[in-house]
Amino acid sequence: ADRRRSATSRGPGRTSDDHPVKLLLNIGSVDDLGPAVTGSPSGEGPAGVDAEGVGLFRTEFLFLDRREAPGYEEQVAAYEAVFRAAPGGHVVIRTLDAGTDKPLPFLGLPEEPNPALGIRGLRVSRVRPEVLDTQLDAIAEAARAAGAQPWVMAPMVTTVSEAADFAGRARARGITHVGAMVEVPAAALRAGRLLNELDFLSIGTNDLSQYTFASDRQHGELADLLDPWQAALLQLIADCAAAGQAAGKPVGVCGEAAADPLLATVLVGLGVTSLSMSAPSIAPVRDSLAAHSLARCRDNARVALGADDPLQARKLVLPD
Ligand code: PEP
Ligand code: MG
Repeated sequence: ADRRRSATSRGPGRTSDDHPVKLLLNIGSVDDLGPAVTGSPSGEGPAGVDAEGVGLFRTEFLFLDRREAPGYEEQVAAYEAVFRAAPGGHVVIRTLDAGTDKPLPFLGLPEEPNPALGIRGLRVSRVRPEVLDTQLDAIAEAARAAGAQPWVMAPMVTTVSEAADFAGRARARGITHVGAMVEVPAAALRAGRLLNELDFLSIGTNDLSQYTFASDRQHGELADLLDPWQAALLQLIADCAAAGQAAGKPVGVCGEAAADPLLATVLVGLGVTSLSMSAPSIAPVRDSLAAHSLARCRDNARVALGADDPLQARKLVLPD
């Protein structure tokens, strides 16, 4: 039994018929790449998590609880450490996502009546552009120092012009892989146009659910609306994945939805090319994909899209 387990809980993500799906880590700092992530090249050694890279490096943890923004040098050091430690050297780094659940006092932003609908994510660059520019400078410098080619993405991108503006700033600094998180329905609806400006998309299902279902993501009473098996959410993901396939560009999922082993088969069936999650979910998701063919994943996706409520979807999609 041990041999079987180690055969499926290591190595790259694949369906049973070898369709590749990148399995990536969500991290908040280099510490999250510590002893928990020790996949050795031989496949022997400690039972660590074997991921193919970092799919979401949330940089705001560097900025929390600060009176002043972290300086340029401090940012370079923090990013360089992650670029050097990441499995396979692959890191998708997200620029600062401030606002709502992550208020940052040093930004000095005025209180807002509807913070989730206000100046948050990339929108902070409207009022404090130097914060984003410094961060992009630090990312570019850290990448040079580590010999890395990071993928850089912005949170809360809503329009094509925002994406174009962000891409221009990033490319001016030599960053070659520029993307956006899809967290707002407006962005999902225009995914194909966004991909005219960008190299990849990463779907943040936590916020995309919040904004699609008009339901505060922290609201316990509304958990059924925020259920990632909701067909309206899956439909938006399907549209993004189709746009990615048409453009020949990667579209991943990095919200909580990616960590549900059975839903992961649905997401793969919808056409997403990577799944990013916290370390403990990697092995169960890898095992689930390894037990399903791509055709079965597509069947699961059709069934889930056809269900009228998330409980029904879960019941109809049976694990192999
Ligand atoms: C998301 O919104 O799904 C996401 C991954 O970003 P965060 O949870 O940091 O808002
Ligand atoms: Mg988010």
